[in-house]
Amino acid sequence: MDEKKEKPIEKQEIIILGSGPAGLSAALYAARAGLDPLVLTGMMLHGQASTTSVIENYPGFPEGIDGSELGQLFQTQAERFGAQIEIDQAISIDLHQQPYLVESYGKTYETKSIIITTGATPRKLGVPGEKELTGKGVSYCGTCDGWFFREKDIVVVGGGDSALEEGLFLTRFANSVTIIHRRNELRAGTILQERAFANPKIKFIWDSVVTEIIGDDAVQSVRLKNTKTGDEENHQIDGVFIFIGHDPNSEIFEGQLDFEAGGYLKINKLMETSIPGVYAAGEIADPDYRQVITSAGMGAAAAIQATRYLEYLNS
Ligand code: NAP
Repeated sequence: MDEKKEKPIEKQEIIILGSGPAGLSAALYAARAGLDPLVLTGMMLHGQASTTSVIENYPGFPEGIDGSELGQLFQTQAERFGAQIEIDQAISIDLHQQPYLVESYGKTYETKSIIITTGATPRKLGVPGEKELTGKGVSYCGTCDGWFFREKDIVVVGGGDSALEEGLFLTRFANSVTIIHRRNELRAGTILQERAFANPKIKFIWDSVVTEIIGDDAVQSVRLKNTKTGDEENHQIDGVFIFIGHDPNSEIFEGQLDFEAGGYLKINKLMETSIPGVYAAGEIADPDYRQVITSAGMGAAAAIQATRYLEYLNS
């Protein structure tokens, strides 16, 4: 007997893939345009920004706002105007003909328009021990896991805004935070650099990369290699937090949409992808800014364009 169940097909005007700042801003604008948008949240409800402890550079919140609280506010505002939020994820799409097909874990949808805001996933180091010790001392989220490292000594890998912001956050719990950077100059912005240098719990190891993470049931040490001298040493440690950038979540669009280098979707300034009625916004299409405010702005722009497209298509 065939165990496979046919999924019901549901018709939509517009589907938004992803529920971060880009997706929920697109949902707000599409809802206010009367399009009854459906948001498929993806696995990370409210996106990566929701894992940030305090967002200090989103206007309107002079004291900063917790990332998960801001995500919930975005959702509540979009829902107020009729956006429908489904905890589900698109697993395949077919853009070969109108209406487009979106298959999620729960359903198959026919939709006239799609806004892709699937964001990005933290990049892995790809060294021995990383995979095996993830959740046993290796982490990609300070806000999620910092609490487990009270009075512990940890390392943070990376030299960008995320590494410093998360490193500073982790000093709330950890005894010491050592930032390991592959160069001798940070990529992070000036304010974060100043705060990190002034924090007595933060130390730096420059010109070094992690070549192995060592431990049986828990992280015990990292193997470091000096990028200038080639010297190697073991560094005893309780935890490793990795913040070395992100890879766009664009696999399901391969072969159907045009791409930029690095796996980002190619869009023009109107947020249009290479297929009419399909738009992309936020980190999936933005290697340059990747801020909550820029993603939200891209999401709003994509929804305005989609509204125009649907008016034209339905006229
Ligand atoms: P990022 O800016 O791309 O920085 C990644 C860091 O990891 C760089 O220092 C890079 O070194 C290092 N790196 C990359 N691959 C590595 C590897 N295999 N081994 C060791 N080190 C490696 O990423 P991000 O810090 O996640 O930031 C992403 C974006 O979000 C940025 O636009 C950032 O401004 C933004 N952001 C903003 C805030 C804020 O405004 N508060 C907070 C977080 C993030 P190199 O420097 O040598 O390339």
